[in-house]
Amino acid sequence: MLSAAGMPLGHIALVHPDGERAETLAKALRTAGHRVTLVPTGPGQRVLQRVIECAPDLLIGSLTLADPPFATVARGVRQALGQDPPILVLFQNDASDAPPETDEIFRESADFLELTVRVGQILRHQAQRRVLQRKTQELLGLYKMSWAFSLAGGAEALYAHLSRQSAELLKAERGLVFLFDADRRQMVAQAPGFGITPEQVSRARYSVDGDARSRWNFRKNGPLISNKAQADSRLLNDIVLDLGLQSLMVAPINRGPQILGLLMVADRGGRAPFSDEDLNLLLALAGQATVAVENLRLHDEIKRANSLLQEYDRLKSEFVGIVAHDFRRPLMAIRGFAELVLEEPELTLETRQEFMRTVISETEHLALLANDTLLITQIETGQFSFNFSEVDLGPFILDAVPLGLSDHSVLMDIPAGFPKIVADPERLRQCLTNLVTNAVKYSPEGGSITVRCRERGAQSIVLEVLDHGLGIPQDQIGKLFGKFARVRTDEHMKISGTGLGLYICRLIAEGHGGQIWVESEVGKGSTFGMVLPIDARTARPADARSAEGAPAPVKGTVPSS
Ligand code: ADP
Repeated sequence: MLSAAGMPLGHIALVHPDGERAETLAKALRTAGHRVTLVPTGPGQRVLQRVIECAPDLLIGSLTLADPPFATVARGVRQALGQDPPILVLFQNDASDAPPETDEIFRESADFLELTVRVGQILRHQAQRRVLQRKTQELLGLYKMSWAFSLAGGAEALYAHLSRQSAELLKAERGLVFLFDADRRQMVAQAPGFGITPEQVSRARYSVDGDARSRWNFRKNGPLISNKAQADSRLLNDIVLDLGLQSLMVAPINRGPQILGLLMVADRGGRAPFSDEDLNLLLALAGQATVAVENLRLHDEIKRANSLLQEYDRLKSEFVGIVAHDFRRPLMAIRGFAELVLEEPELTLETRQEFMRTVISETEHLALLANDTLLITQIETGQFSFNFSEVDLGPFILDAVPLGLSDHSVLMDIPAGFPKIVADPERLRQCLTNLVTNAVKYSPEGGSITVRCRERGAQSIVLEVLDHGLGIPQDQIGKLFGKFARVRTDEHMKISGTGLGLYICRLIAEGHGGQIWVESEVGKGSTFGMVLPIDARTARPADARSAEGAPAPVKGTVPSS
């Protein structure tokens, strides 16, 4: 409050043993606009208690007070009320008796105008000091918040801290953090809140596209104060009623224009209203909350990335283990047969030739295994570039598929004038060879194999390889395109293989922006199919394309198995 002359007004407690003099002083101070409480003195009067009870903005006392001495009153006031309020003593002759607790001294004989001017100055300093004190408290609160954020252990501790600290700093009885769930397009209250039950928190959520659109919009309207929340048409009444809120303030937690969530405090003790100044503090707190929420998000992301890395590491070890095992078997065979040829002089020429043919075929097997392993590693680590060019599928397939197999007949079902596609011919040939070789391998009784091509819409084609072989049990189909996946039946395991071929086909299909699948029935046969885009350069997955849209190395893929 200010006087007409712009001086701050206050509540003054006056302690003076001379009743008449006290009245005159009080009158002068009241004329200047101050509220004055005259504290009775004399035996049996509880001077100190009365001063403390009226909690004045300024205490004026006289050094002539003897019972109790003013020094005792001043000391007691300091103990009970701290530095607030200032103490001014009036002295008659000797100011050196003023107790050390006093802030100002003043000669009794000076005139009233001088006294009221001095009192005005003291009260102004007092008001400034209080503002500074409040700011310091707020800064301390903000500082405490930011420290706690960096130390907070996980989401729950963070939301508990945010809601409690914000509420306590703003002298509110409740605090709650809402975060935006982009998938559901909902604002969702985060547990735990402060002064709000867990059940209430779990119910507090709303869709931002529904009723909320016609209410308060934080993007357009900014932060909000509502001191009559239940009758406020800007708010979603259901939530206000369910939380039983009377008054509230909400500040957005935002990163640039993007609103990540809201920080809310509600219900002041004694139903006191929230002011613009309070809202400014809440905005500062929401700024801190943004940093904390972002930190938490990044922390979670790092944790996820870390566990993914651990998974990659595990897969790598598994890969190295299996590769070592698969390399050892042909190496042992090569060594065994080579030793026999070298050390057994009685062997016939035919036997030696047969052994050497085995050595050559095992060497070829090893070379293939090494190539497959290398290709997988390159594709998975993003070091492989596909070489796309135009492929005329009809002649290409005729050229790639081996005809004239002894136990199998191969049928081609490719419509005339089939469109050209853009693909990596070398890799496409590898896929096709894998699928046809499998069809032959896993049809030990022979039978027909069909290679079929179809257009699918204007943008893609389907390439299928059908056989009438062993088939695949349904429960093993899900894992079939993973690394080292083999069908674990006696019949399948009799046939040698590494379980890498289909995985490579999958990486190649995906590297073209396509997909691979299988349909199969045990004892009847299998159909392996690939859907490929007409132009792999434009259809590759977004993350596998460079910024200019030019083909980029394919990123690693974690198999689903
Ligand atoms: P490999 O044949 O070297 O083991 P692949 O990755 O090509 O490796 O195939 C994985 C597994 O899928 C094979 O081990 C086999 O069990 C099964 N499989 C593949 N093609 C067929 C098929 N046409 N019919 C039945 N099973 C098949």
